[in-house]
Amino acid sequence: MRTTRRTFLTSATAIATSAMASTSHSASATLEGDILFAHQPVTLPIVDSAQRFQVRRIYCVGRNYAAHSREMGSDPDREPPFFFQKPTDAIQRVPRGVTVDHPYPPLTKNYHYEVELVAALGQGGRNIPVDQALKLVYAYGIGLDMTRRDLQRMMGDQKKPWELGKSFDKSAIVSDLHLASRTGHFTRGNIQLKVNGQIKQTSDLNKMIWSVAEQISNLSQYYELFAGDIIYSGTPENVGPVKPGDLMEGHIDGLYDISVRVV
Ligand code: MN
Repeated sequence: MRTTRRTFLTSATAIATSAMASTSHSASATLEGDILFAHQPVTLPIVDSAQRFQVRRIYCVGRNYAAHSREMGSDPDREPPFFFQKPTDAIQRVPRGVTVDHPYPPLTKNYHYEVELVAALGQGGRNIPVDQALKLVYAYGIGLDMTRRDLQRMMGDQKKPWELGKSFDKSAIVSDLHLASRTGHFTRGNIQLKVNGQIKQTSDLNKMIWSVAEQISNLSQYYELFAGDIIYSGTPENVGPVKPGDLMEGHIDGLYDISVRVV
């Protein structure tokens, strides 16, 4: 097998194939050598299935509900969609029927929840037309885009990147994934977050400024998208702080509720 592969790699055809492979996200098949410090791929179970979804990238949409945009100090009528990323290993999975402990992160005094619909892609592409975009969505989940609001604001005020506020360990809380072929696509329905039993955020998915299809279409102009990419589609208004001991419960009609205890 090893000899065969080496022989294969010396041919001109193989070099061309290898170059193509590196751009199609499967370069590892042509690489030699033991992997040092290997780690597990980040995966999420598919609900009612033995299969798991390997997460490639986490994209997040900013200020995608008008009332939330206003509470963040922006004008929702003037702003095209914009995106940021979280590292893939920031995922914290919340299985059905389980309350997961979520550690209060360091260096913040204003730690916020943002409940969001999460779309998981089963196909990729570039420059996807809006009317084709939902064909890329393989599954949906409910997530919390956890945010160190004080650090996000401080960095924003200084015109520095948002990473410290948005892209930290366990900042991407998410349920298992529900197949879109079973749930249908989510264009409306209640989205809600409770803290300690009290409703904090409640809205309807139809109040998104940019629909999931429009998000995918726009994002695919900036990045080539791939199967495995997931998109946090933005949060409605009334984000707010939590502290250790608080219980967060997220709900979207048609998905199971998630339950997370800040510790
Ligand atoms: Mn968000």
